[in-house]
Amino acid sequence: MAEKMRSFNLSDELNRPVICQKCGGILVYTGLGEFKCEECGSSEFDDYGKVRSYLEKHRGANVGEISSETGVSHKSIRQMLKENRFEVIDNKAGYLRCEVCGVDIKSGRRCRKCEESYHRNVEQQARNERKREFTVYGENPHGDKGTKRFTREE
Ligand SMILES: [Zn+2]
Ligand SMILES: [Zn+2]
Repeated sequence: MAEKMRSFNLSDELNRPVICQKCGGILVYTGLGEFKCEECGSSEFDDYGKVRSYLEKHRGANVGEISSETGVSHKSIRQMLKENRFEVIDNKAGYLRCEVCGVDIKSGRRCRKCEESYHRNVEQQARNERKREFTVYGENPHGDKGTKRFTREE
């Protein structure tokens, strides 16, 4: 059986932030690797967003510098650079294609439409997760499936 669509993990390989560090709200994708908490409005970035915004301010930075400033691993920075995931200054050739629908894109991994539907899906999943956690546990950001659900200390 061909498994073309990978199931959505709450965090993909770019370490997409899902839950706000400050208030525990859901982080909603706003574009180019940036996410905004729907409750308190604070922004966070995934690995792509971190590297991208660093590169905007520091054109020509090397992998070591980027990594120590952003905390993103050398390996994933190299991978993103290799795949030209960042908008190139002189973009003559649209050599990137959306991973999902194959349309030409300038940066990132998916076209805007596919990127958004991907993130809407993750967000929805996170909301459902959270609802479940809140009703069952009160708080538990990682939501291990409840073996201890009704354990009580005597
Ligand atoms: Zn928040
Ligand atoms: Zn697409």
